[in-house]
Amino acid sequence: MRKLVVLIFILCLQQTSNCQDYLAIKQGLDSIAKRYAINVTNAPKIKAPQVNIKSNYWDTINFNPYRNQLKKFPFQIKFTDSIYTSPVMGKKVITSRYGWRRGRPHKGIDIDLVTGDSLVAMFDGIVRFARYSSGHGRTVVVRHFNGLETVYAHLSSYAVKANDTVKSGQLLGKGGTSGNARGSHLHLVVSYKGNYINPEYLFDFSENNKVRDQNIWVTKKWVKSHFHTSKRQSELELFTTEELAIAAQKKENRKKVYIVKSGDTLSGISSKYHVSLSRLCKANAISKTSTLRIGQKLIINR
Ligand SMILES: [Zn+2]
Repeated sequence: MRKLVVLIFILCLQQTSNCQDYLAIKQGLDSIAKRYAINVTNAPKIKAPQVNIKSNYWDTINFNPYRNQLKKFPFQIKFTDSIYTSPVMGKKVITSRYGWRRGRPHKGIDIDLVTGDSLVAMFDGIVRFARYSSGHGRTVVVRHFNGLETVYAHLSSYAVKANDTVKSGQLLGKGGTSGNARGSHLHLVVSYKGNYINPEYLFDFSENNKVRDQNIWVTKKWVKSHFHTSKRQSELELFTTEELAIAAQKKENRKKVYIVKSGDTLSGISSKYHVSLSRLCKANAISKTSTLRIGQKLIINR
């Protein structure tokens, strides 16, 4: 009889893939073993289930296989780590931030380095991509176990290849200027299911290497570069619940991008959209006397 009970539990263990089921059954098995004085060390070893991050959109050829699959905002990212490993050795000097830059989106942050400096993984994960990508040059993309991807671009050499499992702090390659880079730097991109998130929203880039929260809700603002300027850090407001994120997103929807047409002036745009001239200038990091270009994109923050 007791052999039969134990056998049923072992079969259940082998069938289950859910963590909580696993724990419940494991506890049940332990108590049965105790009751019948069975030595559990003789029972087959069952490994706790792991998240299979390679099950969806695992593509070692395309830089972004998701093609913006995730359209629903806000979305949640969970972290088990409270700190990350700095991708560069020494002090992190940010030379350009996530946001609008020279009329185009800059979807990562630039961290200063000297060609040949070591670059390491920010968290444990698996290398999804380690190859040349137009613009980014030699690029390594690591997918982490919470689904987040970190991208390390403009490398001079690789130390890993696709499908390699890496630990946090493990060498990925050496920094450089490959691709479209003005001087040697690390172009660091953080993405979740194809959405490029402002890295400073999730991580503190001062010396403490902090993940801002274990549970972060990302609104549209933090994945749209036109809400930010590459010249300065955005004002940070972290959302740790869905309710807060939804409320904030309603306000974000009042922001829009205006494309400058022939004959437009800053004061004209200001009065048309009922936004003060100083607010308009601040949102775009320009001065009141700036000359507008046709086709230039302006952020209207009402
Ligand atoms: Zn960059």
